[in-house]
Amino acid sequence: MKENRGLLVGRMQPVHNGHLQVIKKTLEDVDEIIIGIGSAQLSHSIKDPFTAGERIMMLTKTLSDNNIDSSNYYIIPLVDILMNAVWVSHVRMLTPPFKKVFSGNPLVQQLFKEDGYDVVIPPLFNRTELSGTEIRKRMINNGDWKSLIPKSVSKVIKKINGVERIKHLSKKEISEKH
Ligand code: NAD
Repeated sequence: MKENRGLLVGRMQPVHNGHLQVIKKTLEDVDEIIIGIGSAQLSHSIKDPFTAGERIMMLTKTLSDNNIDSSNYYIIPLVDILMNAVWVSHVRMLTPPFKKVFSGNPLVQQLFKEDGYDVVIPPLFNRTELSGTEIRKRMINNGDWKSLIPKSVSKVIKKINGVERIKHLSKKEISEKH
């Protein structure tokens, strides 16, 4: 029975090459990784364009294309709650037991540290380009976003017309002139 389990939480809007690298690195340290899809309730906004289901699809296909065995990970959608002070209990309720938390996010680090978890801060890879904000900006402005994400994620985005979605959401309201 595998006992050395770690948690990584991310909004993954969308899943990008930085997420993939941090997942691979984490799996060098733990037997199983729990990947929490953060802010699972959010979608269809410029900051959070994709549904939790779409993000799960991006992640599952990426991990499979990278030969990461499905017996080594769990993907769990995590809806946000208003009370940061009890968020760790909320996450614990929804996930298999874990000992270590891997996160570059200061709030996530702080909340788990206060609860007594072993918190690891993974190295960031090319953070200027490998960030959801940068990728979404490039999608809106016809920039090169495809080189920053795994091919399997591009395929999912194409299938769901994700670029059209985010471009449409970014439009300013135009009032009709008579
Ligand atoms: P994110 O997708 O930006 O990043 C997730 C993780 O991926 C990071 O911690 C980092 O370790 C890794 N990463 C990202 N870019 C990388 C790169 N270029 N190179 C290497 N690693 C990289 O997501 P996030 O903002 O950290 O997600 C935290 C989630 O937790 C959010 O959804 C937030 O709402 C949720 N949260 C909720 C509550 C609450 O409900 N009260 C409280 C705290 C956090």
